[in-house]
Amino acid sequence: MLRGAALRVTRPRLAVLTAVHAHPHADTDSIFEAVRQELPKVSQQAVYDVLRALSAAGLVRRIQPSGSVARYESRVGDNHHHVVCRSCGAIADVDCSVGEAPCLTASDDQGFSIDEAEVIYWGVCPECVSALATS
Ligand SMILES: [Zn+2]
Ligand SMILES: [Zn+2]
Repeated sequence: MLRGAALRVTRPRLAVLTAVHAHPHADTDSIFEAVRQELPKVSQQAVYDVLRALSAAGLVRRIQPSGSVARYESRVGDNHHHVVCRSCGAIADVDCSVGEAPCLTASDDQGFSIDEAEVIYWGVCPECVSALATS
């Protein structure tokens, strides 16, 4: 993947990419922790820098629902959306409803050439629903 994006293959890049694959929607801290298991001497700054490079190269996607820290995932390029739990912040993937961007047609495009609609569905996750029901 790194070579395909013309990025030099380095151990931190490999470790970050592996961590993002293994933990979809993980935040920077969790990715840092996972990378440190493999590369104990890696710095937080190095992990930040790698995440930025991988996002810029399109190998990882950065999402940031309001009220949440930035999160990263390796599922890119399929225009999928996210559903976020208002109660615990859990995030799950929701496939694009039409299969390609932009998923939604703007009622008025204001003359813009629109190529993407980013949708976040908000609600309550199954765990929180049952916790609410039993409390
Ligand atoms: Zn929840
Ligand atoms: Zn996702």
